[in-house]
Amino acid sequence: MTSEDYMRRALVLARRALSTGDVPVGCVVADADGAIIGEGWNRREAEGDALAHAEVEAIRSACRRRGGWNLHGCTLYVTLEPCPMCAGAIINARLKSVCYGARDEKAGACGSVLNLFMEDFNHKPRLYGGVLREECAALLQEFFHTLRKKGGISTLI
Ligand SMILES: [Zn+2]
Repeated sequence: MTSEDYMRRALVLARRALSTGDVPVGCVVADADGAIIGEGWNRREAEGDALAHAEVEAIRSACRRRGGWNLHGCTLYVTLEPCPMCAGAIINARLKSVCYGARDEKAGACGSVLNLFMEDFNHKPRLYGGVLREECAALLQEFFHTLRKKGGISTLI
């Protein structure tokens, strides 16, 4: 599978967030052999949990599957640039690489607001941005456009 294939799977998961009014962000974790061992999507509204971002859900599911916290050798694919909390979780899980789709100019911690992976932490994942960027951004734009039409707030991220 290519990076685009994994991102397509993450986009399918992102759409699951729509049924609960959550911002559509999806994430998969693949191991060194390329098998998907973790999946998640944003469940902040569904769970009423500020920490239930797609990346945290996918990392938790991968750790359960692996039977441990250390995800060395694994790659995380996420449709939106990770926030500081998720970038921190990625460092703590020792993920080898991160691929994201759309940039998050307001909250992104992988190059937009700052780049946590450039700091002097004990682990530095490799970073690849812009995988299926247009598809990932279009899904988010569609969500916020619909929300604005309904008169909802436009600053959920
Ligand atoms: Zn996050």
